[in-house]
Amino acid sequence: ASPPESPTESQKKAHSGNRLTLYILIGIIAAVTAAFVAPEAASMTAVGGEIFLSLLKMIVVPLVVTSVMSGILGLGDVRKLGRPGLYAITYYLSTTVLAVIVGLICVNIIYPGGNISEEQKAKAEQEADKKDLTAEARLRQQERQRLEEEITKYNAALDELGEDGPADEIAQMEAELAASQNRLREIKKQDGLGAIFANLLTMLFTENLFESAVKMDLLPLIGFSLIFAAMLTTLGERVDSLTQLIDQTNHALLAFVMLLMNVAPLGIFCLVASRFGEAQLEGRLGDELQQIGGFMATVLIGLGIHAFVTLPAIYWICTRKNPYVFMYQMSQALLTAFSTASSSATLPVTMETATQKAGVSAKSVEFVVPIGATINMDGTALYEAAAAIFIAQAVAAGDPTFVLTLQSQIIVAVTATLAAIGAAGIPEAGLFTMVIVLNAVGLPVEYIGLILSVDWLLDRFRTAVNVFGDSIGAAVVEKSIPDDAVRPGAG
Ligand code: ASP
Repeated sequence: ASPPESPTESQKKAHSGNRLTLYILIGIIAAVTAAFVAPEAASMTAVGGEIFLSLLKMIVVPLVVTSVMSGILGLGDVRKLGRPGLYAITYYLSTTVLAVIVGLICVNIIYPGGNISEEQKAKAEQEADKKDLTAEARLRQQERQRLEEEITKYNAALDELGEDGPADEIAQMEAELAASQNRLREIKKQDGLGAIFANLLTMLFTENLFESAVKMDLLPLIGFSLIFAAMLTTLGERVDSLTQLIDQTNHALLAFVMLLMNVAPLGIFCLVASRFGEAQLEGRLGDELQQIGGFMATVLIGLGIHAFVTLPAIYWICTRKNPYVFMYQMSQALLTAFSTASSSATLPVTMETATQKAGVSAKSVEFVVPIGATINMDGTALYEAAAAIFIAQAVAAGDPTFVLTLQSQIIVAVTATLAAIGAAGIPEAGLFTMVIVLNAVGLPVEYIGLILSVDWLLDRFRTAVNVFGDSIGAAVVEKSIPDDAVRPGAG
């Protein structure tokens, strides 16, 4: 914990923070303008963006480890505690489910998939091919279809042979039928909810911590840090210096982030200018926005409702403070999320802003935000649910035999939640986990191509919502963390 600051000192900090937000905002506006006026030049700023991203990402792995540990250590002896963890998990899950519900309602009311032309669908398949996003999923789907056809064929043949046909032929046919049925059952099991859930659980652990660190695979690092720190809190005075070392490292890393924030406006300018400039150079931006404008509008309205109504309501109910002031205080983090399209890369900024500007206790921020950045993704969940139904609508428009049942919508809701938990906090991760959702309800994965062209843009908005959800979580869970939690050995 840091020493208390004098009011003038924190006032000064808040003031310079406001100026920084303003510069970041100016950076984004200038970048978008530049992308339209001089796309070529704008796209050349990519290097600057890359450097800024590297600087942020460079500290993510150590910061996740020390901040999760520090957060747990701040809770005191974990054997005497259960509440904050329970609160955090309840918060993560309930807000994600609410987001999915909002997404489903919006997409069902607006019904954007009805206007997709056959031509666009054909193009979508090519695009998906190009990204090689769906190869494996497609093979699985094809095999499923083939097996289903085979089973019908065998059944028909058996019927034809009748009960007193040649015994050996019947036996062989029955054996083949059983084999196909088994294989189909296996495939269905792999696509089932149980398998997806089991997969998520195994992602929490790793054989090799260093390998996970190298790959920036944060979930197993979090799993380890949680267990290790929880154990430390039970060891008392013997581990005092280790506890302090973790705390101090965490503190130093956050100070480093503060330093980095000084170049944020420039870094953010480069990130936005280069991406928008590229889109403008490709000359397709306008067309594509128009073509699937309905879908974009659906997602943006859904995200808007979640960010401006649902989350603020939860914040107000739990803290009785003005949620929009909180949103303003978090704006540096939200703008960084928009610019980087990555919750993980934004994490250092989220933590810094939440503690320094929004005044959430460091204990709560360290406990809630790093874990939230990897598993709590409201925006992504909303997006995946809306996209899956959008694709179903597009399929239904060309194939009247296809109906999307209420049961399928529920499966979409559950898998979208799981897919969002499983998505990494990196750009366009949600696009890849969406295959899970589509597979679960048997929708053609190639149709992901329909949304590829605008995903990069929607990704930014949903990432900002993801980050906002994490910061509200820290403020909401804060109260359940005892003020007097005593560090092991300290008392
Ligand atoms: N880019 C998102 C994030 O980092 C994840 C996603 O939805 O693709 O939060």
